[in-house]
Amino acid sequence: MIFSKLIRNKVLFIFCLFLFSIGYVYVAEAGKVKVVTSIFPLYDFASQVGGDLVDVRLLLPPGVEAHGFSPTPHDMVRVTRADLFLYTSDILEPWAGTIVAALGAEKGKVVEVGREILNKKDDHVDRGGGEANDGHHEGHSGPGSDPHIWLDPHMAVEMVDVIEAALSDVDPENSEIYRNNSRVYIEDLGLFDTRTEQVLQKCKIRIIVSGGHFAFESFAKRYNLTAVSPFLGYSPNAQPSPRAIANLVKIVRKTGSTVIFHEELIQPKVAQIVAGETGGRLMLLHGVHNVSREELEQGETYLSLMQQNVQNLKQGLQCQ
Ligand SMILES: [Zn+2]
Repeated sequence: MIFSKLIRNKVLFIFCLFLFSIGYVYVAEAGKVKVVTSIFPLYDFASQVGGDLVDVRLLLPPGVEAHGFSPTPHDMVRVTRADLFLYTSDILEPWAGTIVAALGAEKGKVVEVGREILNKKDDHVDRGGGEANDGHHEGHSGPGSDPHIWLDPHMAVEMVDVIEAALSDVDPENSEIYRNNSRVYIEDLGLFDTRTEQVLQKCKIRIIVSGGHFAFESFAKRYNLTAVSPFLGYSPNAQPSPRAIANLVKIVRKTGSTVIFHEELIQPKVAQIVAGETGGRLMLLHGVHNVSREELEQGETYLSLMQQNVQNLKQGLQCQ
């Protein structure tokens, strides 16, 4: 398994060198800083901070599920031609290591935006349990390793700070503009956080029951809620067990909830089962890993999707 992965990485690397040699180029607008990001929140944050000075490209094609994504040789070339490549963490994007190796020492800058944030989170992790943990603790990868840091607006602010520093590093002449842009955007994030807190503190139901994978731990903690999911770990790739789904049904009955949340870009099979068993209805809780083509064309942003999440939570958790 590891051996075949190594071979695959090597093939990708050699293919990159080949594409380089035939002059397969990243075409960006002249004079702009070329930024490539792995997932949508980084794409949006980098666009907000960089403004007109940057040309930001999202590596994930629209509609592609983030956890199962693996870069093509073409993607690798896009990255190697960029001035700056941003990814969140080796937990969420384990393939980024291959890209870093392919970049070599003299190429563009690579930043693991979530590294310090995750380290800090792991140091302060709350290892306490609770009844709702029954839903997700069965075999997940351990407390503190939730890679969905962007869903907590406070951590999103820290991500924006890291991106600002990275852009200033590759383009120091414009660092003041990046600083100003990031301050303006951080203010927007702060407003969203305050409004979200005001809405969610009134929720009668304090458990977010999701049929999707376990993505909202950090978000839930921020607003004194609990998130439960029947999936093992923090990825939608492992299928939940019948026992975990039955547990979720039990939790829904106990809370009296009439809404089961489901995630984006994936068929909501598990949420439908739980809704069928409990007479509940489905609502979207967007994990903002990536957007569909339609959402991209509609100009959805991290904040617009998060605001919609809060509206859905307000209904589902009965926050009046
Ligand atoms: Zn996820």
